[in-house]
Formats: sequence, C-alpha cells, structure tokens
Amino acid sequence: MTQAGWGTPREDVGIVLQGRNGNAEPLILGRTGRSLRLLAVGLLLILGLACAPDRAARPNILFIMSDDHAQRAVSAYGDSLIETPNIDRIADQGVLFANSFVTNSICAPSRAVLLTGKYSHVNGLRDNRDAFDGSQETFPKLLRAAGYETAIVGKWHLKTEPTGFDTWRILVDQGQYYNPDFIENGVTVQRQGYVTDVITDMALEFLRARDPEKPFALLYQHKAPHRNWMPDTRHLERFAERDIPIPPTFDDDYDGRLAAAGQDMRVADMYLSLDMKLQRDVYETETGTGGHPTYDPTAGWEDDYRRMSDTQRAAWDAHYDPINAEFQRERPQGDALARWKYQRYMRDYLATVASLDDNVGRLLDYLDEAGLSNDTLVVYTSDQGFYLGEHGWYDKRFMYEESLRTPLLLRYPAELDAAIRQDALVLNLDLAPTILDFAGVRVPDAMQGASLRPLTSSLLSDAPWRDAIYYRYYEYPHGWHSVRPHYGLRTEEFKLIHFEGDLDTWELFDLSVDPHELTNLYGQEEMRVVQEELHEALRALRLELGDAAPN
Ligand code: CA
Repeated sequence: MTQAGWGTPREDVGIVLQGRNGNAEPLILGRTGRSLRLLAVGLLLILGLACAPDRAARPNILFIMSDDHAQRAVSAYGDSLIETPNIDRIADQGVLFANSFVTNSICAPSRAVLLTGKYSHVNGLRDNRDAFDGSQETFPKLLRAAGYETAIVGKWHLKTEPTGFDTWRILVDQGQYYNPDFIENGVTVQRQGYVTDVITDMALEFLRARDPEKPFALLYQHKAPHRNWMPDTRHLERFAERDIPIPPTFDDDYDGRLAAAGQDMRVADMYLSLDMKLQRDVYETETGTGGHPTYDPTAGWEDDYRRMSDTQRAAWDAHYDPINAEFQRERPQGDALARWKYQRYMRDYLATVASLDDNVGRLLDYLDEAGLSNDTLVVYTSDQGFYLGEHGWYDKRFMYEESLRTPLLLRYPAELDAAIRQDALVLNLDLAPTILDFAGVRVPDAMQGASLRPLTSSLLSDAPWRDAIYYRYYEYPHGWHSVRPHYGLRTEEFKLIHFEGDLDTWELFDLSVDPHELTNLYGQEEMRVVQEELHEALRALRLELGDAAPN
C-alpha cells in the first residue's frame, strides 16, 4: 500500500500531456504533491507568464452556479446519465477540474464560501439557519470597486439582502419552479414562466442593458436541480421511458460507518407527495416517511402546483396522471417501492438538468453573437454535489465523494487553452481568488483559497499546489436529514473523517482501492502509519486555517 508522503515530492504523479490544444484528446494536467500548504503568494508572482497577447485588460465575468448539481449529471465528467452539450461547451473550450470539492456541502454555507473565499468558521455562515453578514468583503464588492458593473440574477438564499451589486433580482428563499416570486432591487414581484427560463431572461436583460464602457460581472445562479425537481413542461417526457441504472451502492448496509447508518436521507424514504408528486387521494393511503419530522410535505408541493397556469397544469397533469394511476394499480412495497422512487426521482432530477443545459446554451449563444466570448471568463459550478442513489441516498452534507465533489469548468479563450483536464485538488474556496486574479484585482490576504489561474496553463504546470483539502459540516441536530457534524481531510488517495458529538467516531478510506467508501479502515494495524500521518496533517491544516482545538 502506498503511503501519502506529505511534504515530499511525489515522483509518480507528474504532468501527463495526452494531447495538444485542438486535438480530440484533452490535455491532462496533473500535480505533484509538493507541499501541503497553499503557496498563493508564490503563484501570484508568476502569473504574468500566462497572459496571452490578445487578452483584454479586464475580462468580463459570467459566473454560472446551479444548485445540487452532481458531477455525474454533467456529461463532460464522463458519465452517461445525461447529455449536457451546452455545459460541455465550457469544458470543450476551456478547463475541466476533475477533482473539484466543496468545504461544507450544503447550500447557503457553500454560497458564503464562494462569495468570501473563506471557510464557514471564518465567514460566519456555518449552516442553513445562519444569515450571511453582508458587510464583509466579497469578490463582487471588490470587482465593483475596481470598475465592474455587477449583477446577480436567480438564487441567492442567504437571508440578508445582496450587497455589492448594481443590479439584483433574486428568488425569495429557495424559490419556486413555476411562476416564481423574485425580489428585484428590494421589490417583490411574481414572474410568469419556468424558473430556469426566467432567470436566463433576466441574465440576458442585464447583458443587453449593461454599461458598455465597463466590464461586467454577472452571477447567474439557478434553483435547478434542487429538490423537489419539478421539470419544465417541455421536458416532462424527456426521461419518462428511461430506465436509470441503479448505482452499485444503492443497497449499502453502512457496515462500519455509524454516521452513515444514522442519516435520514434514503431514497426509500422520500415523500410520495413532495418528491414523487403523487396526488392527495393517492398518497394519503400510504405513509410517506422520511425527510423531516416537523415538515408537512404536502404544503410546499401543493402550493407549487397551485402556482401553475391552466396551460402549465394541463401539461403537468397529462404527464403525472398516468404515473398516479400506475402507482395506484401497482402499489409497490419494500425494495420495489425504493426502486420505483429512485426512477421517479432521477427522471425528474435529470429533466430539470436538461432545462438548465438548454438555458446555459442560450447565454453562451448570446456571448457568441455579441462578440463577447473571447474576453469573458465563464465559470460553471454548483453549490455542491448530490447523491443520485449512491449509498441509497439523495441530498448532500456528507464528506463522502458524491456530495464533496462539485462540477467546476472554466472558459476564457483569450488566455486559456481548450479541452484541458486538471486533476489537482481544488476547492470552491478558490473561486473568489481566481476570479479576482483574472480580473487583475489584488486578492486580499484574508481569503483562504488560492487562485486556480496557474492550474489553467501548461506553462505553469510546475507551480506548487496543495495535496490535501479540509472539510467541515455543522448542521445537526437541527435541520434536515440527521447527518452528524463532522470534519476531515482528503488527499489524493485517502480520506480521514471525524464524526463529532454523540458518535465520536473516525473513518478512514483508501480511495485508490475503495472509491465508493464502503470499508472503514480506521484502527486497522496495516493502516497505522498512514493513519498517524493523516492525523498529523489534519491537525496541522486545522491549525493553519484557524479551525483548531488541536490536542
Ligand atoms: Ca445546494
């Protein structure tokens, strides 16, 4: 078994050049694990090397963020669940980060990390109950101060009003899929249409009306594919006949993983009303358990249905009436019910992604038509990943791979090569410094991430980079899904997690042989040396990040 070897060069993980710009094969950039620490200052000194001569002084920024979008549901990441040709355009013409992670896999906290470039314990937003302190420094504020016209359209979800934007048009809280309510520069307005289309219309309105004398920074943030996955009418049939493959870990028994056993986020327990969209006379005869003990799953779902126009509702009913009838006829139970729910969940989830991809295409087309593509840095990411049936789950929160990972694509033709795949361990924490760096704005010392810009060029592929990431999740016992608070360290090969509180258990996975994280190796004699090294690295990283009570 290979040991991690922190702090020393890894000769076996070099840069692998498997093609050049323009070839079918992507250019693959790897990283030597030269140092555990971020060396952001050193990286800043060599940035000039990456500048191509035709680069604009200040690129426009288009920051695209979806909500709960798993890497597996972006076809550029290589899975066959769905084709996302428009999102893939960003990867085909830019950089795909294959190992992109979040620091706290839950919605509002992740958004705060993205805005501030700081971990949750520093920016103060640890879980979904907290409100964002809008007085703190964020990358949109810094861009605005540097002369950018700034805007956010779509999902905000941070409780306090946006700060640092010339224009803001945000969904109220989580937002609705149909005919949603927005707060537009302080005024609440209901907009007609499907949420993903409406947000894109707003993005286009901003771009068309913007000040042409200034570069723009547009945060274009979607509700989709967040629960409860209500597809647009034009995508209702898209996956209706598709038999979605069941993940190999769907029937996980959580052996050796107490926190995994203690969660409340199994597909088998999804609500028949909220999640499955069954009608009241159908679901009232069943007990749809799970989700949240104090939440009425009929309320939100029936409100969303009532918001539809007659035309929308007619299309909706034409699709879901036969599903209700089938359920009443078949009455699946036990494993059959869990599998029936999985198919229903995935078909709706993927249909909301299809709309998302269409709309990303509309915006990329506009950039092309307006002659803006070359000088615009496009970022595509999600606030975190999501379980698409792995371990039998939906939702996120855990430090296990499927929710720890998030899609991350960058495109900036004026500077970056096309079709680059980067394997370095990167974080959502890095995006604020990255955007500021590309914009030529000094990255504040207080930001804890590092610019990804040196990772986007083969010229700079020897630059040092981190070889471990730190993660921490807080939301327990309040909140949804009963996931215990935990923190941990992930290296290229290993993951060490400490579940705090009543469980107080450790987990250790060797990702090189156990990518699904089914075998907890913590405490096993053959892991003794690795385990101690991981503990030491975790202690050091917590101390460095100011989140430590090391002993
Ligand atoms: Ca989310």
